[in-house]
Amino acid sequence: MLLRIAVPRKTTKLTALATAVALAIAPMAARAEEEKGLPILRDTETEQLLRDYTRPILRAAGLEKQNIQVTIINQAVFNAFVADGRRIFVNHGALLQSETPNQIIGVLAHETGHLAGGHLARLREQLAQAQTQMIIAMILGVGAIAAGAKSNYGNNGLTNAGAAALAGPQNMIMRSLLSYQRQQEESADRAGVKFLTATGQSAKGMYETFKRFTNDSLFAAHGADPYYQSHPMPAERVAALEEIARTSPYWDKKDDPALQLRHDMMRAKISAFMERQDTVYRRYPLSSETLPARYAHAIATYLHGDLRNALAQIDGLIQVQPNNPYFYELRGQALIEGGRPAEAVAPLRKAVQLSNGAPLIEMLLGQALVAADNKAYAEEAISILRNAVSREPEAPIGYMQLAMAYGRKGDLAEADLASAQAAFLRGDNKTARDLASRAKTRFAVGTPGWVKADDIVAAKPLPGQKNNSKFADPNDSEPKTFLRTGPARNSP
Ligand SMILES: [Zn+2]
Repeated sequence: MLLRIAVPRKTTKLTALATAVALAIAPMAARAEEEKGLPILRDTETEQLLRDYTRPILRAAGLEKQNIQVTIINQAVFNAFVADGRRIFVNHGALLQSETPNQIIGVLAHETGHLAGGHLARLREQLAQAQTQMIIAMILGVGAIAAGAKSNYGNNGLTNAGAAALAGPQNMIMRSLLSYQRQQEESADRAGVKFLTATGQSAKGMYETFKRFTNDSLFAAHGADPYYQSHPMPAERVAALEEIARTSPYWDKKDDPALQLRHDMMRAKISAFMERQDTVYRRYPLSSETLPARYAHAIATYLHGDLRNALAQIDGLIQVQPNNPYFYELRGQALIEGGRPAEAVAPLRKAVQLSNGAPLIEMLLGQALVAADNKAYAEEAISILRNAVSREPEAPIGYMQLAMAYGRKGDLAEADLASAQAAFLRGDNKTARDLASRAKTRFAVGTPGWVKADDIVAAKPLPGQKNNSKFADPNDSEPKTFLRTGPARNSP
């Protein structure tokens, strides 16, 4: 499953009453609306791989206890950054453009160097409380301004959007967030090389990536690349990096072939979901029979709406790797999207089992159980979804599905509460408060559900969230959803 969760600039209005039943149809409403949001990508396969990439680095940096998360942003340009001391952000473009695990691990090691060096200490307090999507909105607002200033397209809408974001009180935070001092860059380079060496990995990939930013005429021509903007790379810095990197005994060490295959599968998936179909088939020609190429073809076929062929291709993948949970997940997702949710239940159960209960896949199973419209599934859907949201509390989709499951069951109190939690996670505090207030009237006073609803009603806007029209329009009392699930269609 590759989910694109959008925080919209343009809100999707539901004309129906603010009921859980109305929210149940919301994802379709959101999909019909071509939103230009600020998206986060959620995908178990990619996130698991990134965890495997970062875990040893974080341990070497002494940060293994900090519960640092990697968040993938749906942007095709190369970028990676740390914001608040507990989150590393990476654009899907950086994953796609990194040809080896070592290249992206090098970038992650450099960013970990910024974390370990406390280069953002002043900002941590302010940002530690902010929701992930809020941080992204702020960053991208300022990213747009940085891009506009350096490009020849100073008057385009992107720049204006950035200017609007900068007019707010986040100005100072953002300005300092996006730029490092030269000595911080060099210190992050040195720290990154140290972490790589301590974990028996080469810093060649980091060097290759950074050298590309100094050499590559494509980057130079655009000049607006966010990574280049935030991480200045004068030639002497890259030369210094090369010098220390070459002293490592692991300089010539190659990536493990099994890890390279997982990396290639991730890139194939991102390409197939995020890029135009002609681009996908150019990267992965139909004549290619490699597993990543076949993965890309199967995804592209299903996104193109050819379910029968897609299922045949997915079955072919399952024959090659019968214990790969993500092939069953893809089969389930294709069936749900193809309007056959009852048939999606079996492959998704298998995917949950093979992934040791990955919460995002459990949410997809919950979605299939709810959509299958079978009363026998209602209780099971609720139990699976409750379990999933307890371990994955930042994914609004889990609460959306939970609201629908409770709605099916006729439990309107729990349905309202789950809808309120989903709205809260989207940063839509107004809708969250409204739904939570109504949930309170449906629970007995003092029950756990009432207390949770009361917490949402009483929640203060998070720092930077006040007056932020991107997230809630104070004049708009209708519930809205920004959730977008399923195939992340290719952008024009
Ligand atoms: Zn840096």
